[in-house]
Amino acid sequence: MIREYADRLPVTAQTRVISLGEGGTPLVRAEKLAELTGCEVWIKVEGMNPTGSFKDRGMTMAMTAAVAAGAQAVVCASTGNTSASAAAYATAAGLSCAVLVPEGKISMGKLSQALAHGARLLQVDGNFDNCLELARKLAEAYPVFLVNSVNPARIEGQKTAAFEVVDVLGDAPDIHALPVGNAGNITAYWKGYREYAEPSGNAPAVSARRPRMWGFQAAGAAPIVAGHPVTEPDTIATAIRIGNPASWEQAEAARDESGGVIEAVADDQILEAHRWLSAREGVFVEPASAAGAAGIFKKFRAGELQPGQRIVITVTGHGLKDPDWGLQNLDGTPMQPEKVDFDVVSAARALGLEG
Ligand SMILES: *Cc1c(COP(=O)(O)O)cnc(C)c1O
Repeated sequence: MIREYADRLPVTAQTRVISLGEGGTPLVRAEKLAELTGCEVWIKVEGMNPTGSFKDRGMTMAMTAAVAAGAQAVVCASTGNTSASAAAYATAAGLSCAVLVPEGKISMGKLSQALAHGARLLQVDGNFDNCLELARKLAEAYPVFLVNSVNPARIEGQKTAAFEVVDVLGDAPDIHALPVGNAGNITAYWKGYREYAEPSGNAPAVSARRPRMWGFQAAGAAPIVAGHPVTEPDTIATAIRIGNPASWEQAEAARDESGGVIEAVADDQILEAHRWLSAREGVFVEPASAAGAAGIFKKFRAGELQPGQRIVITVTGHGLKDPDWGLQNLDGTPMQPEKVDFDVVSAARALGLEG
């Protein structure tokens, strides 16, 4: 990915790039959402990155910067996916990695990844915002390199997702919807769209226009919507369970400069969208990843989605990160596989087939 967009990233031909083959993720047509809304809807499936989330796009650049700076060790705070990504890329770079996670709020899949890749994992008695504060202080006072999205290299890498969207569609969409947690990703997409809409050196602009950015926070963790930090953020969407986003101002700038919105979606709306994506579109994501789609449903139902628009929704992480959500109905009751005898007639009867 870095080599493909090298002319727009802070690297040279001599840079030792730390890569696991991130980027180039599918842009999938959401046929059912299109039918419902009368819009042309696309899903950018970021769960197809090497560690299963968009964090890899930023991590390749952050780890490349860490190596260039001569770092021996990296540190990050994480709601889960950053730790999985940092641990994998640190391994590829030959660096040691420490991650700070809030106690008890990390999905099993993400914990497993960080530990499997050999990271030192510290569970902090606090929330994500506390973890980030601690990580920043460690990086200030000790010889460890911070790879959270407050590191500008992360944003540089993540902006390539906007480039890919334009490269596939031929221009920017009308609307780009996505989840907002620490707000690095909305910042990065907006930077990417802006850069592609401007001439670069002797090359003309790649895209003729820029999208409206529609960001969605979980209702229990919606500081930007509320206009003040949330001290006890609470949502089932753990990846966006953040009360004081590091890129708050940049997210507001993306919203305002693009004529977009940042709104809240309730947990049940997130789970409904999560189920729609898996059961209707064939795309399995983790709950937080469905916040952008939940936002599109919300705007559609409020009559605030004009038909005929081209919409891209980023789904940020893979469903296998947090698979329990696939195993229950929307009312919370468990979904069980049906048992049948080793017998074709019983199997057919169970499936409602008639011979
Ligand atoms: C990190 C993350 C987010 C939030 O992205 P920000 O850049 O922090 O706004 C959303 N979904 C998933 C799956 C994530 O891992």
